[in-house]
Amino acid sequence: MALSGIEIFKLLPKTNCGDCGVPTCLAFAMSLAAGKAELSKCPHVSEEAKSKLSEASAPPILPVTIGTGEKTLKIGGETVMFRHEKRFENPPGIAILISDTMDDAEVKARLEKSKSLEYERVGLTLNTNLIALKAESGDAAKFTALVNKVKDGSDANLILISDKADVLAAGLKACADRKPLLYAATKGNIDAMAALAKENGCAVAAKGDGLEELATLTEKLDAAGLKNVVIDSGSRTVKQALEDQIIIRSAALNKKYRPLGYPTIVFPAEMTDNPMKEALIASMFITKYAGIIVLSDFQGESLFPLLVERLNIYTDPQRPLATKQGIYEINNPNENSPLMVTSNFSLTYFIVSGEIENSKVPSWLYVKDTEGLSVMTSWAAGKFSADIIGPAILKSGITDKIKHKKLIIPGYIAAESGGLEEEMPDWEIMVGPREGAHIPGYLKDWKP
Ligand code: SF4
Repeated sequence: MALSGIEIFKLLPKTNCGDCGVPTCLAFAMSLAAGKAELSKCPHVSEEAKSKLSEASAPPILPVTIGTGEKTLKIGGETVMFRHEKRFENPPGIAILISDTMDDAEVKARLEKSKSLEYERVGLTLNTNLIALKAESGDAAKFTALVNKVKDGSDANLILISDKADVLAAGLKACADRKPLLYAATKGNIDAMAALAKENGCAVAAKGDGLEELATLTEKLDAAGLKNVVIDSGSRTVKQALEDQIIIRSAALNKKYRPLGYPTIVFPAEMTDNPMKEALIASMFITKYAGIIVLSDFQGESLFPLLVERLNIYTDPQRPLATKQGIYEINNPNENSPLMVTSNFSLTYFIVSGEIENSKVPSWLYVKDTEGLSVMTSWAAGKFSADIIGPAILKSGITDKIKHKKLIIPGYIAAESGGLEEEMPDWEIMVGPREGAHIPGYLKDWKP
């Protein structure tokens, strides 16, 4: 049972030292009980109290890992219903399905897609890194052959899918070192599946026929000492599956109901035959509250928006994505190339640098650290004004790279041009366009 705030408070040092970031032990205890703080934030808690508090301080949705090494997928660990309350912690894994009834060419094509459909955005690599292998034939030898093929052709994390424990065991034997997720323990096979997961140190999914049965299954897995558990309510209609996702998250967070406190796995592939509808359903599960989403196939036009959505939903809403301050070279600039300045809000940087790239004009772009704020917001907050931009550019080392003394500023801060002329004597301050889309047209007329 989870402990109340007062019960937790009794186990804390009660010195109110504030080292945990809140002024009193009582306030820290209340945050801990609400799942909004981590016990590790208090450096003074005794070992004895730590072990007593471990259950209370565990996130209401337990964290689960699949795979090994650098590419290990971590899901769960969530502590809030809505991202604006704090933030969502671990983005869902997105898997492509490969069946052992597919021919070699199809398997190869899917492996290729899972590797090549990778995108750079705001300085991050967006990809999937999860393959679900389904023993559709029911034949252990065929399934093992598929596991071997995929294991040799990809370093992605794996999900092994079969309701037959012997078939799953055969496939697992071929890839146990990759620590795949075993899908799934059901009412009919739970003992064998639990034993397999325990023996091989793998995560296991529990699949119930409804939430009540699911809770019974996870209690059994918990009793067997298995915590690396993923859950599937078994619903395959969009309405019921969505309801289940919300009930599971709410039961775990608001009612501290441990049997449903695990990340979920969902199968949009089994809810529609229409690939576009499947992408829409997957999109819904990114926001509500899937831990793993299994797709029937990957298509660039639907996968890319899903990856961008996942990035947005799992970005801390209180901390904007920022780019590093410095001088950026675009299209191989030289000493006569134009110099522009912008803020370090990632989206601003990527729009501006993208448009400069499109212009094909070799250019220098100086990105000023504005604490991740956009041009307008940072200017309004006094973080992107002439007295800050001017000295930063003069100290940046750009004067060793260019011969001219011309600086193009964003149209939105045209009012700073006078101040910049004072801060940067002998420089010509040019007011560029307000919108990134107008940069290529503006640069056409550039003369050093
Ligand atoms: S760091 Fe520990 S002892 Fe200090 S106020 Fe926080 S909970 Fe209390």
